[in-house]
Amino acid sequence: MTQEADYLSYYFVMTISTDMAGQQGIDKRCRWCRHVLAASTGPGRPKEFCSQRCRQWDWVSRQRASELALSENELVMTRDELDALKDQMYVLHCALNDVQTDLASPRQTKESLLEMLGWLIQAAEPIAAASLTPAIRS
Ligand SMILES: [Zn+2]
Repeated sequence: MTQEADYLSYYFVMTISTDMAGQQGIDKRCRWCRHVLAASTGPGRPKEFCSQRCRQWDWVSRQRASELALSENELVMTRDELDALKDQMYVLHCALNDVQTDLASPRQTKESLLEMLGWLIQAAEPIAAASLTPAIRS
């Protein structure tokens, strides 16, 4: 048991929020990355994933959950990956604070506004492009 506990300490167990469950049907989303899926047309099963890559990550995460006896609504990711995401969120948090402070000053020029927007975009891009992956035992 001790060995298993040590092993598990390398991972965060995350619970997938079910807040959005009631909103399903408004926008069908990829089961892995949560991006909105294009409306499916024609016969056949409705699409569940935006890409083969997302389908594979979802499958891998379910395999891992099964190995670790987690529930359907839990998944594992590495601490490194979660920390990287937290760092990106922190940078965005700081950028928002800076821009809100700067906007409070009465005089803005086109240049100062462009600078703020650039800072926000720079801070937000890594989060918008982030693709989370399940932890894989190597
Ligand atoms: Zn996807």
